[in-house]
Amino acid sequence: MYEISCKNSCYKLDYCVEFKVPLELTAMEKDINVNKIVSQHIEMERFFTGFALKGRSGKLEAQDQEDIMAVAEKAAELEKIAEQVNQCRNCELGSLRTNTVSGEGNPNARIMFVGEAPGADEDAQGRPFVGRAGQLLDKIIAACGLKRSDVFIGNILKCRPPENRDPRAEEIISCLPYLQRQIEIIDPEIIVALGAHAARTLLNTTKPIGQLRGQFHEYYTGIGRPPVKLMATYHTAYLLRNYSQENRRKVWEDMKKVLDELGLPIPK
Ligand code: URA
Repeated sequence: MYEISCKNSCYKLDYCVEFKVPLELTAMEKDINVNKIVSQHIEMERFFTGFALKGRSGKLEAQDQEDIMAVAEKAAELEKIAEQVNQCRNCELGSLRTNTVSGEGNPNARIMFVGEAPGADEDAQGRPFVGRAGQLLDKIIAACGLKRSDVFIGNILKCRPPENRDPRAEEIISCLPYLQRQIEIIDPEIIVALGAHAARTLLNTTKPIGQLRGQFHEYYTGIGRPPVKLMATYHTAYLLRNYSQENRRKVWEDMKKVLDELGLPIPK
């Protein structure tokens, strides 16, 4: 029997997290750092994920263990996709990138943000939304009373188009399956599509973002599966270029609808 343990001291939690998780399931993913996955999960806001790692003795309940293993499995699946993206040469962007940007965040997120494509900062760091547009997204997430680690952040394209040009149809077609699988694995309650490219791609429409934003749409993951609610809103890069009170108000209105739909409190 393999075992791992985590100490609560690193995670500033109000319960004892000296726990032992049987690793039969996770051992099948030898390459995945299970400790990291479980630690990341513990760091997540419990109110947001709906997970409650509690118990006076500090021992995890069976249900808690199952929940943790389920998240670890999701994380392992997402890691596999990231590895495939790393190997991907399906379009010319594969030979132009510095780093792939598969996406990051809570494997069990209730909200998944989807942007357009990595920019220069993201390409340099291999992480989504870390440039100016990302800093604004962080502020929006914080204004919602959430943390970046509560949500998952991905993009339509996993590699940077040169000079940040618009994604081309053939690039979207070859890259989209990665995002579709990420959405299936994470199974978020709400997708927030940032900007016209994300919204149009996921909704398979050519309507302008001004018409799409502000209302819930349905994103279909496959036959027989219930659709995921999708809120379209302005991209943060657009907001930065058009930083009017009116545009900021619109994005905040959109996000309030998302919070309301999830039953989360709307910060004043
Ligand atoms: N813009 C995007 O659409 N995605 C990023 O990751 C960064 C900026």
